[in-house]
Amino acid sequence: MRIAVGGIHTECSTFNPVLSHEEDFRVLRGPALTAAANFAFLRDYPATFLPTLHARAIPGGPVARASYEAFKQEFLSRLQAQLPIDGLYLAMHGAMYVEGMEDAEGDWITAARRLVGADCPISVSYDLHGNVTQRIIDAIDMFSTYRTAPHIDVEETMRRAVSMLVKSLQSGVRPAVAWAPIPLVLPGERTSTEDQPAKSLYARLPEFDTIPGIWDSSLMVGYVWADEPRATAAAIFTGTDAEQLFSCASQLAEAYWQAREAFVFGCETGTVAACVSKAIASASHPVVLADSGDNPTGGGVGDRADVLAELLRQHADGVIVAGITDAAATAAAHQAGTGVTLSLSIGATLDPSSQPLPLECEVVTLLEASAESTARQAVLRCAGILLVVADRRRPYHYLADFYQLGLDPLQAKIVVVKSGYLSPELAPIARPNLMALSEGVVDQDVERLPRLRKTQPTFPFDRTFSFTPAVRFSARARF
Ligand SMILES: [Zn+2]
Repeated sequence: MRIAVGGIHTECSTFNPVLSHEEDFRVLRGPALTAAANFAFLRDYPATFLPTLHARAIPGGPVARASYEAFKQEFLSRLQAQLPIDGLYLAMHGAMYVEGMEDAEGDWITAARRLVGADCPISVSYDLHGNVTQRIIDAIDMFSTYRTAPHIDVEETMRRAVSMLVKSLQSGVRPAVAWAPIPLVLPGERTSTEDQPAKSLYARLPEFDTIPGIWDSSLMVGYVWADEPRATAAAIFTGTDAEQLFSCASQLAEAYWQAREAFVFGCETGTVAACVSKAIASASHPVVLADSGDNPTGGGVGDRADVLAELLRQHADGVIVAGITDAAATAAAHQAGTGVTLSLSIGATLDPSSQPLPLECEVVTLLEASAESTARQAVLRCAGILLVVADRRRPYHYLADFYQLGLDPLQAKIVVVKSGYLSPELAPIARPNLMALSEGVVDQDVERLPRLRKTQPTFPFDRTFSFTPAVRFSARARF
């Protein structure tokens, strides 16, 4: 059993002006792919896995067209070199936007389909924040997506996609995919599976899986910061029983639609100024304040200094701000050395739409790029604030990200991170968690975003329309 493996995995805000290039991706080629920790689970299957190319970047702006085309060509030539194959597994995210190209995953997956031919089964795994089109569904045979957000079931999902493919190849049974798009798209912060109603909706998926003729149940939240027609939620099922596929996809799409008004933020939210005031006044610590509009793991730029400016304006004390992407400030700090006081301009170095902040600060800690972080970093002190700057876009979502810099978030009064919902390591330490509805290219106040390409009507942008699920099958279904 010869199964080729590859894919491309990133999430792009179409409102982010900073292009992602080849160097922003971690690229696994050939044997390095199957040797990588996140693909180690493949060893548990009775198949020969044939590596091609897998490229993954943290979320950001659109992928530069030339970078995308180079990845695609390399993927296809490596795939060609592995033929003949019995099956293809693609590990995707689903919310990639390529310069000048809508439905980028549709382009990638249909190119793979053309190459492997009509007889080769293709199974894909997705992030539930991906967006899907009929073109994608028509090119595949099996589909599975994460069931948790924050994502703690990445490997489980990849295993479901591979298990289905192996089952199909062993049994000779070819399942098909049916889907029901739902004209509703919300931020991940209002659809976390830690909170209701998403928690209950996702808890239903294992029940659907047990229905005879159903192989997999998937519920896509979609990616709201993509101004593309395909940006909607969707119920997607893989199986062998056309009636059950139709019925399950209808039911799940209807249940998600009916819950639409109940999706709310899982923590207290407010303006930047209100959240900073509340954080300063808090009797418990550390307050973890999420600067949500500039969250790099949601596709934000990560270079904005608005929250830092507000903290200074309100004389906040005992604060860690981690962090702001600013290559020039990082370089200046490294050049000056620790203990030196500098006059810097912080922020707005990648996206000029925000305001840079002039700042007098002392260099406290310097950290070179390493295996743990491809970014060079510095810790600067300004009044009661310890500010982390980095020369590349990166999040600070693990405690180790702080410890590495000699910072202890548990000892701080306020920890500011560029994040939406908090990561599984930061959520438990937050006393409390506040989310600032800050400006940026992943603005959580989605109704104020421009909407030129989204399908209309779509909730919550439009509110007075009705919806009845329409289930569509893959063109590959042979029922
Ligand atoms: Zn996601």
